[in-house]
Amino acid sequence: MAQIIDGKKISQEIKDELKEKVAAYKEKGYEITLAVIQVGNNPASTVYVGNKKKACEYVGIRSLAYELDENITEQELLDLINELNDRDDVNGILVQLPLPKHISEKKVIETINPKKDVDGFHPMNVGALSIGDEGFISCTPYGIIELLKRSDIDIKGKECVVVGRSNIVGKPISMLLIRENGTVTVTHSATRDLKEVTKRADILVAAIGKPRFINADYVKEGVVVIDVGINRDENNKLCGDVDFESVEPLASAITPVPGGVGPMTIAMLMTNCVEAAEKYMIK
Ligand code: NAP
Repeated sequence: MAQIIDGKKISQEIKDELKEKVAAYKEKGYEITLAVIQVGNNPASTVYVGNKKKACEYVGIRSLAYELDENITEQELLDLINELNDRDDVNGILVQLPLPKHISEKKVIETINPKKDVDGFHPMNVGALSIGDEGFISCTPYGIIELLKRSDIDIKGKECVVVGRSNIVGKPISMLLIRENGTVTVTHSATRDLKEVTKRADILVAAIGKPRFINADYVKEGVVVIDVGINRDENNKLCGDVDFESVEPLASAITPVPGGVGPMTIAMLMTNCVEAAEKYMIK
């Protein structure tokens, strides 16, 4: 029987630890603040933003909500970001993606002050991660490392295979696994004989975006499986990139979907907000 890596429980532990820290900072007169910007009313974005606000409330972080009209100009959005960049009382700035087509996400991300980029998407933070400098780590990959560490799964020396090379998951988790002394192979849609590669994995990270893609044929016995995928199957049921039923009997540990990587993303966003305040505000 595989160990089920309980992301719900671990993320709750992290939020509880942060809650204590934040309360102690409040006693010293410091208020940690996250600005959350949503453009338009994409229903999925509204749910994500709502969850982020709820987490802020729980941890004790003040959240400033900016709900902007879908038709706002790119310049108006950039002006708001610059205004928030200049405010000493704002520690983190988050712009919920995706943005309407007439606004360049790249420009928006690059306008956020890297010291307030709690999503870890700014090229300065991405670069810092790849050269081993300090910076903000994007929340989902940061959450995966935390899941492994808090489940006592050693990364050092392990064969780690990442399926997917996106900028928000595949690439940063690969850099982090290298930083943790894993031996890392990154695979993607042009990888020849994917099964042969994934079968070598001691730790397999699936970030593909295809329902139940990784089945028992892709893994070896004893593998640790991290399933990043959030998909809907043909019956509209939430599922991961891993076929849990067939892989779990072979795995030594595995994350479920839902309740694995998903809840960690927000917990790590809260962690980044506290880290931002600790680095640049709290003395
Ligand atoms: P993405 O940008 O679409 O990237 C998918 C990656 O998978 C690409 O690199 C692609 O290769 C690769 N891929 C696609 N088909 C493949 C195949 N047949 N064999 C090998 N590789 C293949 O997706 P993403 O943003 O990384 O997200 C991946 C999944 O994680 C999605 O289900 C998403 O919803 C979920 N997600 C979850 C969280 C969370 O909080 N839990 C956060 C972010 C994402 P190419 O580069 O060659 O196209």
